[in-house]
Amino acid sequence: MADMDERLNQWLRDAHAMEQQAEQMLDGLSRRIENYPELAARIESHIAETRSQKQRLEACIERRGSSWSGMKDLAGQFTALMQTAGGVFAGDEVVKGVLAGYTFEHMEIASYRILVAGAEAAGDTETARVCEEICREEEAMASWLEDHMAEITQAYLIRHASESDTAKR
Ligand code: MG
Ligand code: FE
Repeated sequence: MADMDERLNQWLRDAHAMEQQAEQMLDGLSRRIENYPELAARIESHIAETRSQKQRLEACIERRGSSWSGMKDLAGQFTALMQTAGGVFAGDEVVKGVLAGYTFEHMEIASYRILVAGAEAAGDTETARVCEEICREEEAMASWLEDHMAEITQAYLIRHASESDTAKR
C-alpha cells in the first residue's frame, strides 16, 4: 500500500512537471503566432487551463501529504518537441506548432488516464476525479487541434504561396 501511494505521488509530480513544460511550450508558441487569431485564442485559453491544472495537481499532492517542490523534471524528454514549437524548423512554425501541440496533448491524455487508474487502485477517489476532469480538458484541446489542423495547414500553404514570408507564423 505504501509502495502504491508513493508511486502515485511520483506520477502526480511527473504530471506537474509535464504541465510546466506544457505552459512553456504553449507560451512560446502563442508569442510566435501572428496570422492565426483563432489558434492563438485557443492556445491562450489552454494556457489558462494549464495553469489551473498545475494548481489542481498541487492540491492533490499536498492533500496526499507529499510535496511537489524540488521534483525532478521529465529529463528533457520533450525538449525536441519544445524546440520544434519554438521555431527551430524555420518557416513553417505554425504547422510544426500544431503538430507538437497535438502530440503533447495526447501524452497528457495518456498520463491522466494512467493517473485515474492509479488513483482508483490506491482508493484516492478525489485524485481520480481531478485527473478525470483534467483529462477532459486535454481531450477537448486535442480535438480542437484535430478539427482545425487541415484548415491551418491549408491557410499556411496558401498564405505562403502568395506572400512567401508573412505566412510563416
Ligand atoms: Mg495539461
Ligand atoms: Fe494540455
